[in-house]
Amino acid sequence: MSTTPTRITHLLAGVPWEGTAERTSPVHNPATGEQTGVLDLASADLVGEVVATAKQAWTEEWGNVSLTKRTQVLFKFRQLLDERKEDIAALITAEHGKVLSDAVGEVTRGLEVAEFACGIPHLMKGGFTENASTKVDVYSIRQSLGVVAVISPFNFPAMVPLWFVPVAIACGNAVVIKPSEKDPSAVNAVAALWKEAGLPDGVLNVVHGDKEAVDALLTHPDVKAVSFVGSTPIAKYVYETGTAHGKRVQALGGAKNHMLVLPDADLDLAADAAVNAGFGSAGERCMAISALLAVDTIADELVQKIQDRVGKLVTGDGTRGCDMGPLVTAQHRDKVTSYLDAGTEAGATLVIDGREGDVDADGEGYFLKPTLFDNVTPEMSVYQDEIFGPVLSVVRVKTYDEGLKLINDNPYGNGTAIFTNDGGAARRFQNEVEVGMVGVNVPIPVPMAYYSFGGWKNSLFGDTHAHGMEGVHFFTRGKVVTSRWLDPSHGGIELGFPQNA
Ligand code: NAD
Repeated sequence: MSTTPTRITHLLAGVPWEGTAERTSPVHNPATGEQTGVLDLASADLVGEVVATAKQAWTEEWGNVSLTKRTQVLFKFRQLLDERKEDIAALITAEHGKVLSDAVGEVTRGLEVAEFACGIPHLMKGGFTENASTKVDVYSIRQSLGVVAVISPFNFPAMVPLWFVPVAIACGNAVVIKPSEKDPSAVNAVAALWKEAGLPDGVLNVVHGDKEAVDALLTHPDVKAVSFVGSTPIAKYVYETGTAHGKRVQALGGAKNHMLVLPDADLDLAADAAVNAGFGSAGERCMAISALLAVDTIADELVQKIQDRVGKLVTGDGTRGCDMGPLVTAQHRDKVTSYLDAGTEAGATLVIDGREGDVDADGEGYFLKPTLFDNVTPEMSVYQDEIFGPVLSVVRVKTYDEGLKLINDNPYGNGTAIFTNDGGAARRFQNEVEVGMVGVNVPIPVPMAYYSFGGWKNSLFGDTHAHGMEGVHFFTRGKVVTSRWLDPSHGGIELGFPQNA
């Protein structure tokens, strides 16, 4: 039964936009193929209006609201998000396709950042030095930037915005968020919770759109900082354009994450981890494992264990208790599927072909079941490209050093993991690997909210990772005050550079 697509629009100063969009974009349920929404795409002029609204909210109110009041809003928001996480998860599953339990997990990881941001009075404390010079005190303060923009990808429609928005708001900024046009509804629902929590209108605004909206944000003089997450070519573009327009930019890009399994590893643990991290969310995670480096001596046994586990997975509609859902669009499914032929033609062994077998869904969903390649070699496109789908490639290596070299030679450096029972090997790995987030017997080492999330090399442009203290630093400017209060013993002319005395 098909339904009329719902209109999805911008949230400007807390209320849905009432204008008429010149351009729109369809939103689909990937599990059925049905069009469920029509999304308004913002023009550059509308982005200008939104930024002006945000600037006004920052200048007239939020930029100077007390930390106590800000914290009250944050605690209330955290409570509402916790209470409504199932509702948000349902929206994610309906537009992204990931299974409901995974969608709840995504919201929960975002919630952790809201919890971290509740500690903002402590996090923003400066330093104070009495008598740095005689009767001269020095202290540091951190201040908000003004209007900041968040531009997010499709694969974590709630969590990635939550990496930034709570910290940016806690630090006293006003935010304009531009979600992915593929699954825009979760951000609107989360924005409504901020309003309910008492955040003044205009402090958080949602503008939907594509390149036109992104470019308008990147070039607008009143946008002071940009937090971007998406594919590497766009991350690079966003970084270069934003910084050329005088903004601070953190742009997190794509990934090709490797898992290295040494001969002394617990192979059942490693097989579980490879399946979870390779096929969870249909491989559409920036921390998904897509290259499994198995040392020759255990490779046959490990591949067999993975094969056994994959055989039990159920793929289907994410609302039906399946293990894995569809890919986000038909176009992306077709692109991912094209790698199955590319890998086979290049000489890899297609151990499990995700095109075969049934799925538990109705309609024309965008499914590709878990796919496993063995005997993949570094020059193949299945190894080199970020496929961003449920395709796991086993590359056989002879030694730890050969595996490490492959990881370090890769242009991406988001996440990686080593599986071993040798503490010395694990310690060497954490020291030698050129990747931003490292797991030891943990396949998707996503840092907790009080650490910072981010990769190296082509996985991050800029130097600041998301959330944790790096997030607080990104969304504030430091100022150091040197002060002396009037004292009759001081005064007089001294043209030399001030020195401590
Ligand atoms: P994407 O780069 O296509 O889109 C990301 C955002 O950029 C969206 O809001 C989109 O509207 C906008 N955009 C797209 N094309 C643009 C253009 N030409 N000019 C300006 N803006 C543009 O990414 P995606 O497909 O939505 O997300 C998947 C990618 O994101 C993968 O590469 C994945 O690895 C990456 N990702 C990285 C991380 C990380 O932390 N490093 C986290 C999640 C996702």
